[in-house]
Amino acid sequence: MKKDYYEVLGVPKTATQDEIKSAFRKLAKKYHPDVSKEENAAEKFKECQEAYAVLSDENKRKQYDQYGHAAFQNNAGGGYDFSGFDFSDIFSDLFGSGFGFNFGGNSNRKSRGRDLVMRVDLTFEEAVFGTKKTINIDTYDECDSCHGKGGFDEEVCSNCHGTGTVTAEQRTLFGSFMTKTTCPKCSGKGRSYKRSCSKCSGTGKVRVNKDIEVKIPAGVDTGNQQRVSGYGEYGSAGNGDLYLEYHVRSHELFERDGNDIYLEVPLTITEAVLGCKKEIPTLTGKVKLTIEAGSNTGDKLRLKGKGIEDVHSYRKGDMYVVLKVIMPDKLSRDQKKLFEQLDKTDLETKEFKKFNDYLKKN
Ligand SMILES: [Zn+2]
Ligand SMILES: [Zn+2]
Repeated sequence: MKKDYYEVLGVPKTATQDEIKSAFRKLAKKYHPDVSKEENAAEKFKECQEAYAVLSDENKRKQYDQYGHAAFQNNAGGGYDFSGFDFSDIFSDLFGSGFGFNFGGNSNRKSRGRDLVMRVDLTFEEAVFGTKKTINIDTYDECDSCHGKGGFDEEVCSNCHGTGTVTAEQRTLFGSFMTKTTCPKCSGKGRSYKRSCSKCSGTGKVRVNKDIEVKIPAGVDTGNQQRVSGYGEYGSAGNGDLYLEYHVRSHELFERDGNDIYLEVPLTITEAVLGCKKEIPTLTGKVKLTIEAGSNTGDKLRLKGKGIEDVHSYRKGDMYVVLKVIMPDKLSRDQKKLFEQLDKTDLETKEFKKFNDYLKKN
């Protein structure tokens, strides 16, 4: 007994065309012999194809509703012969045009040019403040001789009569059906040229090396990408994009962490002990910073809003000053004398207590 077509697709007799199509898509995905691991996949796939070929056609569906399988039993006990049915649109969007079968058809579309990626080296300051830069790129532009067409004296392609596709019968284990493939003569364009363009060898694009001006916003960092729309390779459906990937060189003094910057400031021993006003560099010029008496190596001072402006929100990061007390490695005779005098005074602060107490006890 042949299975009922509605049962095969799992839809009610009242199903709409959309419901039928969607049910078939689901089953085709499940049972397609190239991808399915189900048992009897090929058989089930064929069954679904047959059911779909009938139910998706309103006339055939009517005949089937009226007479059942008998409507199509022209050959020895077989069902509806769906070998002439064009499944290409449903399969190509189900599996993608690159999938197994070449259903073609969609290469008739014009293609967009490829994107380019360029690494751009920036100094610390260029990244922080933004800049304009001239960038040299190797790319493809539209051929100015044939204006991207690839040839001259356009005519309708004689091979596909302008449709861009040719139909071929494809035979497989589970039946044969008609498939559309891209016309090899015109590559799916539907038009061809009596004379091919010699400048671009018929491709419509030519290799160029050119300089372009780009504006780099303030605040970019290593690894950030900026898209320069339309500056990729030429394509008949529009140019690709150019992506600039930044690499920021390190600064001799400032270190960057996101939008914050760090500056290590060396202090003499007396500057640290007595405190001082210390001139330091910032991103926007020199400032005088008050160093408290008794400052220590590792002490961190925050200068709010003196960091880097965020590339998106424009909010400013902070600057951190990290103190480093430097011991003098060479002393003059006078300096030595002063330290010796100092040594006779009591310089031990409360931090020494734990250490001294332990010594006394043991
Ligand atoms: Zn050309
Ligand atoms: Zn053609």
